[in-house]
Amino acid sequence: MTTKYEKLLPRFLGYVKENTRSDEDSTTVPSTSRQTVFLKKLEDELVNIGLENIRIHPVNSYLIAELPSNLDYDVPVLGLISHVDTADFNSENIQPKVVENYDGKSVIDLDDKGEFKLDPKEFSSLKKYAGQTLITTSGDTLLGSDDKSGVTEIITAMEYLVAHPEIKHGKIVIGLGPDEEIGTGADKFDVADFGADFAYTVDGGPVGQLEYETFSAAALKVKINGKDVHPGSAKGIMINALGVANDFQNALPDEEIPEKTAGRQGFYHLLSLNGTVDSAKMSYIIRDFEREGLNDRKAKVEEIVDQLNQKYGANTVEIDMKDQYYNMIDVIKDHMDVVKIAEQAMKNLNIEPDEAPVRGGTDGSKISFMGLPTPNLFAGGENMHGRYEYVAVESMEAAVDVILEIVKLNNERKNN
Ligand SMILES: [Zn+2]
Repeated sequence: MTTKYEKLLPRFLGYVKENTRSDEDSTTVPSTSRQTVFLKKLEDELVNIGLENIRIHPVNSYLIAELPSNLDYDVPVLGLISHVDTADFNSENIQPKVVENYDGKSVIDLDDKGEFKLDPKEFSSLKKYAGQTLITTSGDTLLGSDDKSGVTEIITAMEYLVAHPEIKHGKIVIGLGPDEEIGTGADKFDVADFGADFAYTVDGGPVGQLEYETFSAAALKVKINGKDVHPGSAKGIMINALGVANDFQNALPDEEIPEKTAGRQGFYHLLSLNGTVDSAKMSYIIRDFEREGLNDRKAKVEEIVDQLNQKYGANTVEIDMKDQYYNMIDVIKDHMDVVKIAEQAMKNLNIEPDEAPVRGGTDGSKISFMGLPTPNLFAGGENMHGRYEYVAVESMEAAVDVILEIVKLNNERKNN
């Protein structure tokens, strides 16, 4: 194992043991006080490292800090963003396990009883990690590499720059935020206060991932008002809300669902359906890479609602449809230099950039639309959001290398 960033591994192991699960049902910011506890510990650590202007934003709870420039000319200010919360999976008493010099073919036992295993036959990604040091769970929790890896990498890069003042860099600002996993953390992101000219979220999968295209997204709630009467005398009167719900679902294109789509195809996804004869509720998410495609899908929904209301009577079907986020390419396309720097940084390090569009969203989607172009860089994790999550120390080191290389390349972008 290399020791270029010797505090990286102990730092990561310390972070993942902190329970920072977010809570979708909470209305506070952060959604859970345990995230605040962790943010305050990180704040102390940043003070010790020697960063400046460290503060927790009073509205959005991002922990923000600066590393001042040591150049004698101005370059664009680089922002680095990650999230401290972990996904909706058991996060009590996380006991990370370190597998040194993994051979790329053995089965790794997670728990002591042998119930949960990482088997390369099932998880073929393991084969890529021969000779590397893996961090896994102990079977009953997630690991929280998403996104403690990103937090670790950003802080390790800052610590490295502070310890190596001979390395020239412009001003860097970092933002470690809450509640990404429940989709709200970046809603109140304060671009002006953050003060970056370009940024990256460091949050995501294997080495090489560089993401600047995401879904455009809408959420749809459907309410169906039925008419419940005695079934014996229902003829011509009863409207069975469950039947109407069935009609609604069947009117959607049956090939355009998550389990039948991939790549750049969008979908309608029924998340929940519950009800009685009297009334029913359905919840959908709608996804498309093109804004026009998203609008077409929304128009299709409106058309179905009209048809059903004509058939069953006005207001039988009521909907609430809201856009959630948009494909960040709409913004990034005018700032492709931000992508190019990250690409070049990876190539300089012999890392092949993987620029496949994300079949999801990132905090960077929202932040980009607030005016700060923010693609996503890999943080290294595999099998995120559950007990099979793991990350290689070497992947995290590569992420730190990429950050430092971006810093170096940015020195050549002198402001006029
Ligand atoms: Zn994440």
